[in-house]
Amino acid sequence: MPAQILNGNPIRDQIYAELGQEIGELAAMGVRPGLAAVLVGDDPASKIYVRSKIAACEQLGLGSVHLTPPANTSTAELLAIVRELNSRDDVDGILVQLPLPLQIETKKILEAVDPAKDVDGFHPMNIGKLIEERPSMVACTPLGVMEILRRNGIRVEGADAVVVGRSNIVGKPMALLLMHADATVTVCHSKTRSLRQFARGADIVIAAAGHPALITRDDIRPGATVIDVGTTRITDPLLAEKLFAKLPERLEKFRKNGTAVVGDVHPDVAEVAGAMTPVPGGVGPLTIAMLMSNTVKAARLRRGLRAPETTASRR
Ligand code: NAP
Repeated sequence: MPAQILNGNPIRDQIYAELGQEIGELAAMGVRPGLAAVLVGDDPASKIYVRSKIAACEQLGLGSVHLTPPANTSTAELLAIVRELNSRDDVDGILVQLPLPLQIETKKILEAVDPAKDVDGFHPMNIGKLIEERPSMVACTPLGVMEILRRNGIRVEGADAVVVGRSNIVGKPMALLLMHADATVTVCHSKTRSLRQFARGADIVIAAAGHPALITRDDIRPGATVIDVGTTRITDPLLAEKLFAKLPERLEKFRKNGTAVVGDVHPDVAEVAGAMTPVPGGVGPLTIAMLMSNTVKAARLRRGLRAPETTASRR
C-alpha cells in the first residue's frame, strides 16, 4: 500500500486559523505582533524565502519590517541594524536570513539578536534552554516537523527515530525535540558509517542532509514514517530522470522548466513507507507557519501574556 502523504498545507492552514484567533485577541488589547526580516545582499533563493515570510505576515495581519542592506554590509553595520531592531517596540521577532555574505561574522550577528525576539531560535541562550527543556524560542523547521507528527497522530513516544543531519538549525534541535517527546533518537551525519543500518531500524526517519535521493527505498523499514526536510534545486536532467522515473508529470514539468525542487528522499520510498511528506509542500509550509507562531509567542511573552490552551504558539 502506498504511503499516506503528509501534506503540510492543511496543517499550516490549521495553525494559521489558531494563530488568527490569538492575533484577534491580542488586537483587542492593542497589540499587533511584528516581525522584522533582514536580508543582506540579493541571493535569489533568500529573496524568495523572505518574500514568503513577509507575505505570511500580511496574510495573518502581523506587522512586518523588511530591511535589505547591500551585499557589502560589514559585521559592524549589521550589528547596528540588529541592535536598532532589538530596541524597537513594534518589533517582536527578528530574523536575519541565512546564509550571510562571507565577510559577515554570522555567530556574532545571531548572538546580538535579543533572545526574547529570536524567532528563529538560533541564539545560544535559546539553544541552551531547549537542551534543558525550559520554555524558549525553538528553531522553526524542527518545530514544524513535530506539528506534522502530532497533528497526523504519529506516535513519537517510545519510537526509534533517526535524524539525518546535525546542523544547529535543523538536525540538532530536531533530535532534542524528538528526545523530549520520548523517542529514542539516533543522529546520523556525513561520517556515519552505515546510514542504512540505522535508518532501516527506525520507526521515524527525518532526512535533513540536503542531498537529493540520499534516502532510498532500501533504507526504510516498511510502514515507517519518513519526513523529508531537504530542499535542493536540481537542474541535472540525469538526476531528474532518476528521481522522476515513475512520476511522468514531474519529469515533464522539469523538462519544461529546466529545474525542480527535490528533497533528500527518493520518491520511490512512498512505495514502502507508512507515511511520508512530499517536497515541495511538506515541511516547507510548516517552517513559515512556525515562524509566525514564534512571532505571536514572542509578542505575548514580552508582555507577560499567557497563550490560549490550544494553539501552536504554546510550543
Ligand atoms: P547543513 O547545515 O548543510 O547540514 C547538513 C547536515 O547533513 C550535516 O550535518 C551533514 O553532516 C549531513 N550530511 C550531509 N551529507 C550527508 C550524507 N551523505 N549522509 C548523512 N548525513 C549527511 O544543512 P541544513 O541547514 O541543516 O539543511 C538541511 C537540508 O534541509 C537542506 O536541504 C536545506 O535546504 C533544508 N532545509 C529545509 C527547510 C524547510 O523549510 N523545508 C528549512 C531548513 C533547511 P556533517 O555535519 O558531517 O557535515
